Amino acid sequence: PSALTNERTVRWLVLAAEAVSREADRLTELDSPIGDADHGNNMRRGFGAVRDSLTAETPETPGAVLRQAGRLLVSKVGGASGPLYGTLLRRAGKELGDSPEVSGADLAAALRTGVDAVAQLGGAATGDKTMLDALDPAVTALRTALERGETLEAALSQAGTAADEGAAATVPIRARKGRASYLGERSEGHLDPGAASSALLLAALAEAVAQ
Ligand code: ADP
Ligand code: MG
Ligand code: MG
Repeated sequence: PSALTNERTVRWLVLAAEAVSREADRLTELDSPIGDADHGNNMRRGFGAVRDSLTAETPETPGAVLRQAGRLLVSKVGGASGPLYGTLLRRAGKELGDSPEVSGADLAAALRTGVDAVAQLGGAATGDKTMLDALDPAVTALRTALERGETLEAALSQAGTAADEGAAATVPIRARKGRASYLGERSEGHLDPGAASSALLLAALAEAVAQ
């Protein structure tokens, strides 16, 4: 497939809900040494609500699916990750407007807008040991792969790899944003939970388009 439809967008978020539910214990464990041990629960609750709402009534366009999902994440998740992921999806959805089909280039541009909105809302930059460390290189990898003429499937797979690498690279970093930053140098040596969940979301997107 060379484009995203509303069905594939729903499939992305359903696969994301399954992944964060399957990995909830690991996400919460990552959030124990450098956070408050709730990231897995936050993600499972938020994406569970997204899955239930989208399967009960599926909006007609990819943009509308993302906007509905984003609103739910903001309203259902108490932690920092809810408003941040909610903003990512809402802003990306707004950028897509109401086109019934979204090309790879449109998707890459919308995700870039969403990721920039996350950076602005949280006041964080790439390298601060947050979800941005996975999201930002993933969206860049998506765009550059598409510009090289790769298929959407291949480009999303490379975006997934970039997210995994970006998440892994958070381990040695000292956190500058979020709860982990309160620990100062004691935040070093731990994988950021939000970067780990971002890698799951990118993997789910690649899987949804490959199916
Ligand atoms: P909380 O920290 O409120 O308990 P979560 O545990 O659900 O929320 O999410 C924590 C994750 O949110 C962190 O691992 C980090 O990736 C991300 N995060 C926290 N603050 C920021 C921020 N200011 N900018 C970007 N991401 C952030
Ligand atoms: Mg937490
Ligand atoms: Mg919390």
